[in-house]
Amino acid sequence: MGVMKADFAGARSLITTSWDDGHPSDLRVAELLEKHGISGTFYVPTRNAEGRKVMQPAEVRQVARRFEIGGHTRDHVSLTDMSLLEAEDQIVSNKSWLEDLLGQEVSGFAYVRGHHNRMVRQLVRRLGFRYARTVRNLSASPGMDRFQMPTTMQFFAHPNAIYLRNCLSGGPSLERVTVLRAVLGGGDLVTRLTRAAETCLGIAGHFHLWGHSWELEEHQLWDDLDRFLGWLEHLPAGSVPNAGWCIDRAGVATRAGRALP
Ligand SMILES: [Zn+2]
Repeated sequence: MGVMKADFAGARSLITTSWDDGHPSDLRVAELLEKHGISGTFYVPTRNAEGRKVMQPAEVRQVARRFEIGGHTRDHVSLTDMSLLEAEDQIVSNKSWLEDLLGQEVSGFAYVRGHHNRMVRQLVRRLGFRYARTVRNLSASPGMDRFQMPTTMQFFAHPNAIYLRNCLSGGPSLERVTVLRAVLGGGDLVTRLTRAAETCLGIAGHFHLWGHSWELEEHQLWDDLDRFLGWLEHLPAGSVPNAGWCIDRAGVATRAGRALP
């Protein structure tokens, strides 16, 4: 993939965000996204085996009024650590719970802790999902496999060594190394995110921010998120939920979703 901006002249840029784990602080993320007109997807488990709080059904419905909701297993457990039968139970139970709750199809899924393999991906597809998000980062495009949707950056300040390790372990393409260079340039989290987003729009026109609201709460990153979204909203890019990001690229649906806030 080339890194010349000219390659992408005329290509429309797209931003998406995603938020994992269904913690009650998702309501605060939703509020900030709405304030800045940025779209996103919330991946919500039915409960959390690690004891972390999850939203009440009414709260999930509230978030769903403005944002896409995706599946994230019944108990928030890694699907590669169990039999396929157990994995199926985890996925189906959560999907039907969400669909009953929301009265609509839930088409997106996020692998817990980003753990997936070929069997798990096939299972998620067979159980009726249309796409699944991983935690692969530093990506400036949705990629070609809708069941391995990557991200660009987590809203969390990792040390440089972690970004470097992620880049190497996830396959260091020219695209990822270019984004990595932007991230490693130093500065605080918002500065790094800003550079990463600018770089992504320059390379391939796509930027995917993801995070955990419980992490934002734990590290008091709310002002930072507010500041970053305030900058993001002025970029010359449309904003879509995850479903619009990948389906758009795969050419399955029209780009109409792009106009959504
Ligand atoms: Zn999770």
